[in-house]
Amino acid sequence: MSSPVENVVIIGTGCAGLTAAIYTARSSLNPLVLEGPLPGGQLTTTSEVENFPGFPHGVDGFQLTQNMREQATRFGTRFESALVDKVDFTSTPRQLFCGDRLILAKTVIIATGASPRLTGIPGEKELYGGKGVTTCATCDGAFYRKMEVAVLGGGDSAAEEALFLTRFASKVYLVHRRDTLRASKIMADRAVAHEKIQMVWDSVPVEVLGVPEGAVNGLKIKNVKTGVESVLPVKGIFVAIGHIPNTGPFAPPLEVDEGGYFKPQPGSQVQTNVPGVYVAGDCSDHIYRQAITAAGMGCQAAIEAERWLAEHHG
Ligand code: NAP
Repeated sequence: MSSPVENVVIIGTGCAGLTAAIYTARSSLNPLVLEGPLPGGQLTTTSEVENFPGFPHGVDGFQLTQNMREQATRFGTRFESALVDKVDFTSTPRQLFCGDRLILAKTVIIATGASPRLTGIPGEKELYGGKGVTTCATCDGAFYRKMEVAVLGGGDSAAEEALFLTRFASKVYLVHRRDTLRASKIMADRAVAHEKIQMVWDSVPVEVLGVPEGAVNGLKIKNVKTGVESVLPVKGIFVAIGHIPNTGPFAPPLEVDEGGYFKPQPGSQVQTNVPGVYVAGDCSDHIYRQAITAAGMGCQAAIEAERWLAEHHG
């Protein structure tokens, strides 16, 4: 079953996708936005956003995406829940397959974001979700009041999660595989200095304990310098070891870099190797990964799509 040819189809409803929707809708392009498994994107799993310009007192992440959605809707954006599982970018218009549905598009903006990376150690998958292993302190931190928890990773996310968890947990172990944090100095200093955070340097997670019981009751770790294994008596494990870009059925044909992120053409942040197909946000940005930079890329992709339509479809 195919639909009429769309001017622009935007895939993803995070900051990048919604900003692209606002811009293309305001240009009367009547965009169709396809909503995936996490409507609103990663920002909806954050509590307070303090660095998005225009909100001097901060703004709730969920509310911010709701505002963007309302703004996009006001100018005529259509939203539909659909997962693209196959594409054909050799044909014109471009073809997007969602199960047995075919969507035809003159231009496509892919803003599918990135998903949290997991360690793959035994017990992690079995106890993921409500059983003690999670990737979102903002979502789940409050469940660990007065308990000991571990955060895995050494970047800004790990430091941020650990600091946030100090509001609830009695103790936070920050387990990092090296002896210095990758996090920015301000975040690293704050985490290291916090009385509730205990740094566990040079250590990798080996196994999440608690599978037969159905709830986390410890984390086995190994010191990479001494080889000694030990168990942290934690009830919650927060994995913060980076993200995997959601490039799904688009790569190939779209080019990706060595980290798996969409690779824009030289001289552009959003133009892919397929004319009329653009990328925006965390699926192609492994450097900044901020709400405001994702929004900026969404804006660029929208303007490029408009220009493409004006040049090729009059
Ligand atoms: P990241 O900077 O890539 O850090 C990932 C961390 O996980 C690294 O410390 C890495 O160790 C560790 N790691 C990776 N794979 C591992 C594994 N299999 N086992 C154990 N440890 C592993 O990711 P991120 O912290 O999510 O940050 C991503 C980007 O978002 C960064 O640019 C960051 O600045 C930004 N960010 C900013 C803020 C903020 O400004 N408030 C908050 C969050 C994120 P190594 O250090 O040894 O590689």
